[in-house]
Amino acid sequence: MIIDCHGHYTTAPKALEDWRNAQIAGINDSSKKPSPASLKISDDELRDSIERNQLKFMRERGSDLTIFSPRASFMAHHIGDFEVSSTWASICNELIHRVTKLFPDSFIGAAMLPQSPGVDPKTCIPELDRCVRDYGFVAINLNPDPSGGHWTSPPLTDKHWYPIYEKMVEYDIPAMVHVSTSCNACFHTTGAHYINADTTAVMQLIQGDLFKDFPTLRFVIPHGGGAAPYHWGRYRGLAQELKKPLLKDHLLKNVFFDTCVYHQPGIDLLTKVIPVENVLFASEMIGAVRGIDPETGHNYDDTKRYIEATLNLDAQQRHMIYEGNARRVYPRLDAALKARGK
Ligand SMILES: [Zn+2]
Repeated sequence: MIIDCHGHYTTAPKALEDWRNAQIAGINDSSKKPSPASLKISDDELRDSIERNQLKFMRERGSDLTIFSPRASFMAHHIGDFEVSSTWASICNELIHRVTKLFPDSFIGAAMLPQSPGVDPKTCIPELDRCVRDYGFVAINLNPDPSGGHWTSPPLTDKHWYPIYEKMVEYDIPAMVHVSTSCNACFHTTGAHYINADTTAVMQLIQGDLFKDFPTLRFVIPHGGGAAPYHWGRYRGLAQELKKPLLKDHLLKNVFFDTCVYHQPGIDLLTKVIPVENVLFASEMIGAVRGIDPETGHNYDDTKRYIEATLNLDAQQRHMIYEGNARRVYPRLDAALKARGK
């Protein structure tokens, strides 16, 4: 089985974007504020938007199940206040839930949280509870920077975030550390802000001792771990300077990297540097980079090709990256699969 741990609903019907634009217009002019009930998207529209896109590519490229969450760049936690984020997250998560009901064998949910800059993360708990208990979601996306590129929140190791971590431990769910749109002109959203955030999260976790407080807490660092695997010697050296344990003990019991690296040399490096137990298959397809690589003739985000082609992995290790590790890191996914006899 091939589990893609990083997919977003980037192809939702346009009515969703129109509703969001009306919601944003309503922040300054409450007469324009739309009700959640005014958003109408039929099951046929949902089905069509998935079948023509994600599901088509999953079939063509040979992946079976995607951990699916709302479009990351649309989370835009910096817009409006908590109420705006809360209504928006609730709508986006419900759509994911509907997709997972329409295609239960192909998609399982991960939640967007209603984060808002300067607001206590514990306000996200009711939505998190709803997504896990009522929708059967198996993970969350946690935005370390709800300000959208201005980094006004404390580091991930700060007690500020503990209410979320306590819930993650209670439910035994991991978080993908995932920022959203950059509203800082210095940082391109997917080219700089995403990769910066992945790298920043790794360094914050090295500087702190978070996993002493939460030994079972698990984070997935997307986009191949940002710059961390490429600079692994730097991070090992910094950990040593900081008198931290070896990264295999300090970090790698709790931190995992996905394979959203869009070329062969990147995957070769990732699978050489990072232990195979810590690598999870992912493509983030129909995401940041949708084109075809002229050097290969294949889509950049067809990441399975790179896993297949790398000389660093044998069949058993590929199985770990495709399925085994995901079942371990996402126990609720494993339980859902076992309940279906898989
Ligand atoms: Zn993503």
